[in-house]
Amino acid sequence: MNIFEAMRPDRVYGSLKQIPWKELRDSGINVALLDFDNTLGIDRATEPDEYSYECIRMIEDAGIRCCLVSNAKSERSSGLAKALGIPCVTYARKPKPVGVYRAMELMKTSPEKALMVGDQVFTDVMAGRLAGCPTYMVEKYKKHEIWYVAIKRPFEKIVRLAGKF
Ligand SMILES: [Mg+2]
Repeated sequence: MNIFEAMRPDRVYGSLKQIPWKELRDSGINVALLDFDNTLGIDRATEPDEYSYECIRMIEDAGIRCCLVSNAKSERSSGLAKALGIPCVTYARKPKPVGVYRAMELMKTSPEKALMVGDQVFTDVMAGRLAGCPTYMVEKYKKHEIWYVAIKRPFEKIVRLAGKF
């Protein structure tokens, strides 16, 4: 896989709520590997919000188990996962696929059955693609994001324009 293929998600949705979870379940997906910051909740939040809970409920109702795959430090991401009642892989080191591998092992699933979802090309999308999982991108949940994510967005925009996604 070349770098451009690694940066291209299979699909892009406006939010987690727009993803057709039931269809995915019918097609064999049994686990959703989820980024937190600006995918499932507010960037850098220490607690999930109502939206986070609604998304988890929606995915689980479709028959798909959830696992958080976060680059965040372990206290914050494990606190979020605990509140949401789902397992989590902390310090996932996305864009490296290592955290995605760990999550699949933890959830006892395989790359054909695990869908990676996140809001960033250079971390979530690449990690999912490099791990061989179907990978969806969502638009960021809220405008606000920490500076070291914000500075990557212009480059992400170029990649998205070039790749037409
Ligand atoms: Mg994120």
